[in-house]
Amino acid sequence: MENKLDRRDFISALSLAGVSLAMGMPHLATATAANAKPALLGGPKAHPGAFPSWPLFDQSEEKALLDVLRSKVWGRLGGKVVATFEKEYQQLLGAKHCLGVSSGTSALYTILGALEIGPGDEVIIPPYTFIATYNVVVLNYALPVFVDTDIESFQIDANKIENAVTPQTKVIMPVHVGGSPANLDKILEVGRRRNIPVVEDACQAHLAEWKGRKVGTYGLAGAFSFQASKNLNSAEGGAISTNDEQFARTCYSFHNQGQGGNATAYNPGSGTRATNLRLTEFQGALLLAQMARVAEQTKRRNENATYLSKLFSEIPGIKPAKLYDGTTSSAYHLYMFRFDKKQFGGLDRAQFLKALSAEGVPCSAGYGQMNKDAYVTGLAQNKHYLRIYGEKTMQQWLERNQCPQNDILSSEQGVWLTQNMLLGSKTDMEQIADAVQKIHKYSRELAKV
Ligand SMILES: *Cc1c(COP(=O)(O)O)cnc(C)c1O
Repeated sequence: MENKLDRRDFISALSLAGVSLAMGMPHLATATAANAKPALLGGPKAHPGAFPSWPLFDQSEEKALLDVLRSKVWGRLGGKVVATFEKEYQQLLGAKHCLGVSSGTSALYTILGALEIGPGDEVIIPPYTFIATYNVVVLNYALPVFVDTDIESFQIDANKIENAVTPQTKVIMPVHVGGSPANLDKILEVGRRRNIPVVEDACQAHLAEWKGRKVGTYGLAGAFSFQASKNLNSAEGGAISTNDEQFARTCYSFHNQGQGGNATAYNPGSGTRATNLRLTEFQGALLLAQMARVAEQTKRRNENATYLSKLFSEIPGIKPAKLYDGTTSSAYHLYMFRFDKKQFGGLDRAQFLKALSAEGVPCSAGYGQMNKDAYVTGLAQNKHYLRIYGEKTMQQWLERNQCPQNDILSSEQGVWLTQNMLLGSKTDMEQIADAVQKIHKYSRELAKV
């Protein structure tokens, strides 16, 4: 018996109910959904539901926090919880040493402190990153030197690093932006050849892998963040990974007022500056509970991101961020892609973001032009920098920091989706692609709205 409902409507209805995956059907929603009008033009939302919220927790977090509360040992000194977390995270990463600290910024600050970075030193960083990467350099009165972005990957352009090296360069600090590995082979090769330590800002890259090994274990040290938005979350928190025992001890000492690390510091004199950046037992408890889910979540994000990239490959003008050949897993803290307005009938990125949001797909333009931000360029007028480096060097610094590829990426092309969205279903991914497909189809009409 033929039903009145035709096959297309039926499948579309199933897809809207989120059951097409469960029934093992192929993705056929696009045909109907992409024929509907964009939400901004009065059509139905492509993604009417909600994405998984963040953070996630259950009784294991509740119990772990109460256990710490009742133990009356709330700080790591004299406690066991942070130490247990360090051991487990170190094993998860396959690193020799791990130190919990109060934030990702603290992790980077401790690493630079242990390396005795200071006035007169230069640190190479990308402009396409969270401002903390820059701040930790400036907190030490060192000079942050920007190296342009590889627009295809959103990562630091490893081929341009050597050009930025001077006799003052003391650290190369790549960031694994969005949780995907930067081009580690090339970066490490420059570091080795020029004898400059590589410090990995892995604050977004928990469990990301390069050639089957976790990032954060390749350079002298890696820094991780457990801030609320990150894939491993204790509200605030961070960790340092390193395979160098002496360096691990110096980091411990630096984060604990110069106490309890070791007698012989990594660098002569580096035992003489320190602060308090300790993690609490409450944070350690949260992290142990959250960590039980992180491997499974990372797998799911990778599966969904791979599927979304496949669906996006059918849409002209949408290019997912390239993963370098060595990448065996991304943390997908962000799903990053490039939007080409020429393929969207002249619709600009702001209009695209507005139309996509209206479809029930939260999205953002991502990082801006950090090297041109007034907060950063103002460093050339900082009285201490003028005293340390002189006016001429600071003016030259402004000129050195040109990043033309990053300008294009951050002002016109970059688009982000957040990690929690990748914890959704396959249907969620299909609806994201349907939303973009609709916007592409109606781009000329949308450009006039
Ligand atoms: C989050 C983040 C940091 C800083 O981490 P906090 O824990 O917020 O201090 C540093 N670098 C990058 C790339 C980050 O994303």
